[in-house]
Amino acid sequence: MSVSLDAAPQPRFDVDRIPEIARQLRQSFDSGKTRPLDWRRGQLQAIHDMMVAEGDVLVEALQADLRKPTLEAWAAEVGAIKMESKSAIKSLKKWTRPEKIGLLPIPGRMRVIREPLGVVLIISPWNYPVQLLLSPLVGAIAAGNCALLKPSEVTPHTSAALASMLPKYLDSDAVVLVEGAVNETTALLEERWDHIFYTGNGTVGRIVMQAAVRHLTPVTLELGGKSPCIVDKNVNVKITAQRIAWGKFMNAGQTCIAPDYVLVHRDREEELIEELQSCVTEFYGDDPKASPDFARIVNERHHRRVVRLIKDGTPAVGGEHDEADCYVAPTVLRGVSAESAVMSEEIFGPVLPVLPVDDVEEAIAIVNKGEKPLALYLFTRDPKVEDAVLSRTSSGGVCVNGTILHLMNPALPFGGVGESGMGAYHGRHSFETFSHRKSVLTRDMRFDPKIMYPPYTSFRTKLVKKFL
Ligand code: NAD
Repeated sequence: MSVSLDAAPQPRFDVDRIPEIARQLRQSFDSGKTRPLDWRRGQLQAIHDMMVAEGDVLVEALQADLRKPTLEAWAAEVGAIKMESKSAIKSLKKWTRPEKIGLLPIPGRMRVIREPLGVVLIISPWNYPVQLLLSPLVGAIAAGNCALLKPSEVTPHTSAALASMLPKYLDSDAVVLVEGAVNETTALLEERWDHIFYTGNGTVGRIVMQAAVRHLTPVTLELGGKSPCIVDKNVNVKITAQRIAWGKFMNAGQTCIAPDYVLVHRDREEELIEELQSCVTEFYGDDPKASPDFARIVNERHHRRVVRLIKDGTPAVGGEHDEADCYVAPTVLRGVSAESAVMSEEIFGPVLPVLPVDDVEEAIAIVNKGEKPLALYLFTRDPKVEDAVLSRTSSGGVCVNGTILHLMNPALPFGGVGESGMGAYHGRHSFETFSHRKSVLTRDMRFDPKIMYPPYTSFRTKLVKKFL
């Protein structure tokens, strides 16, 4: 199968079909076909096989949509899903094993069993359009659910490629992909789902949550925000700059946990900016526009949004842009005021404001003035500084002396807090997100002590008071 790279295919879905699709998915779930572990294993294997067989097609589509560098497309999209599906297959038996609980206080056999929630809706954004659609799907299938997938219309080549390949690999009775934009998503949100898993911006997150209220549907909201990066005085600035530049400029800064801005100790500001410049040249050469390793802004609308933010500071590195090519150079800004738009909105592009601070106290105060971020980065060699930042700030996750990597370990739950989202996933945490933990107590029928039954004699009351 090949994807046309010339014209972005437009979704052409008839929204009137949505109620019927939702009904069919529920019928499939009610039939019980998604519950056996063999079915789940088969579907997870099919996701893995799809990544192996169609990986190149997806990379081509990602390049058409975002000029995503091949390595980034393999590592963060195709490869990530291969790993996640493989690991779910291996762990499925362990995850689904009933959890035995101790005997007290009621005699009997107690356990917690995981049951699937039912039919779930997964809505994803455009920046990692393969990973963010299929990674929750792995969890939904591992837990035994049916799923309706809605990829982002903003990356139409990837959306079309997934729409055409999915039915060839997965059980169409249980997994359906609907392409489309606001109209289609609005129609989907009219239906009753057993869980809604949404990744994207907070404005739409609120729309999703409002729709979920109608049926008391639980939601996972994977949102964004401004992820700060604090750089202490006593760090190796060269390595720090390398790790920040890598996390910031991959996918042209369009990563939900990209470092959004840097708060650096005043004494190291100059050195950090010089090292960031060296990194940009080392990573992308003298002309990043010509580098195959630097992605593009997804479309003109987002390009204009990012370019507007550059005007809030003075570029110390980069600053060039070209709307016709959706190009914004890897840019480091200085002279930025805390009140400017670039310091209030999520940047979501390759623009990095660097602000000097006097000490870690000032950095903590600036972070705590904003909403709770999805990620927080801290570069320090001082355990006291690490303790202060960890205990006095709140964020979805933290990576000390690095960026991004905490997301790549499936043993760590990934999710936001406050304005950056609710709920978490990856690895076992995805399985839990799409499962209900059902408590079961099975009593012995041989004995039936009368202590708990009326009449509540004074002796029984005394006993209860003594032991409870
Ligand atoms: P987007 O524009 O693709 O929107 C996300 C989804 O919402 C799409 O499927 C879209 O069709 C749907 N949608 C858009 N408007 C809607 C409406 N009015 N009603 C119903 N549905 C609607 O993506 P985006 O929101 O621009 O994504 C970028 C944001 O997502 C950033 O804030 C980023 O930080 C965040 N993000 C978070 C994570 C995470 O894991 N926490 C990952 C990636 C991106």
